[in-house]
Amino acid sequence: MRVFPSVHYTMGGLWIDYEADASGNIVAGSPRNHQTNIPGLFAAGEVDYEYHGANRLGANSLLSCFYGGMLAGPAMVNYAKGLERSCDAVPASVFEAERKRQEEAFRRICALQGTENPFVLHKELGEVMTDNVAVVRYNDKLQAADNAILAFMDRWKRIDIHDAATWANQAVSFTRQLWNMLELARVITLGALRRDESRGSHYKPDFPERNDGEWLKTTLATWTPSGPEFRYAPVDISLLRPEARKY
Ligand SMILES: Cc1cc2nc3c(=O)[nH]c(=O)nc-3n(C[C@H](O)[C@H](O)[C@H](O)COP(=O)(O)OP(=O)(O)OC[C@H]3O[C@@H](n4cnc5c(N)ncnc54)[C@H](O)[C@@H]3O)c2cc1C
Repeated sequence: MRVFPSVHYTMGGLWIDYEADASGNIVAGSPRNHQTNIPGLFAAGEVDYEYHGANRLGANSLLSCFYGGMLAGPAMVNYAKGLERSCDAVPASVFEAERKRQEEAFRRICALQGTENPFVLHKELGEVMTDNVAVVRYNDKLQAADNAILAFMDRWKRIDIHDAATWANQAVSFTRQLWNMLELARVITLGALRRDESRGSHYKPDFPERNDGEWLKTTLATWTPSGPEFRYAPVDISLLRPEARKY
């Protein structure tokens, strides 16, 4: 059996909100808990960034899924109960416009008639990320990875979809997801490039120490048509101060 060190997970996920009381504890039942910045869209589990910290403790992710689910469930119910109107009150034209937008996106992918293979692109993306954006990170390699991702994005537009069937077409779904993976790969790579320190599973030999003065903050990326936009949010350490992981 070949034993290969693989990337287990990367810290991060969708930004979610929470409501805290005066002592910093989460207010159970608050509709803000686990709500993303899209009103009414909640995220819990591997998909949300909360609770991970710089280095999620081993075997802690299922725990955080359960805890997130426990908070998100009642939050969703209370959010729905607090709404002044339901989706029935929204004009059908809103849904129709979105359906058209999604159909158009599907059609655009079905019309791709270039020379690139989406599955090969996906494999190459995985290799670039494993080689350059794993635990040990160097700025020149991160920059090279971002250049490579931009080149993949360009090649994505020249994919040959081959099968344009409109029913159960896995290649089309895969190609669509592949674009999202490329966008997300840039978020991970550029977020790491900016963070000149070592913290948890983000290790830069050129900056081997944790630098709380400059980097005790959460990286937030917002989608824009021209690439991710970065800003930072403070980390609430009022209940627990960060310590070095020494094992
Ligand atoms: C190799 C490995 C080992 C691990 N070991 C441990 C461990 O020892 N202890 C521990 O606590 N945790 C461990 N984890 C982490 C843990 O397994 C995950 O955190 C947990 O399973 C995540 O659960 P989830 O429900 O949030 O997400 P997932 O289990 O990823 O569920 C998401 C679901 O959504 C579906 N989905 C995705 N996109 C769509 C879409 N567009 N429409 C509909 N459905 C969609 C997916 O198919 C999937 O079924 C490990 C993870 C890995 C990969």
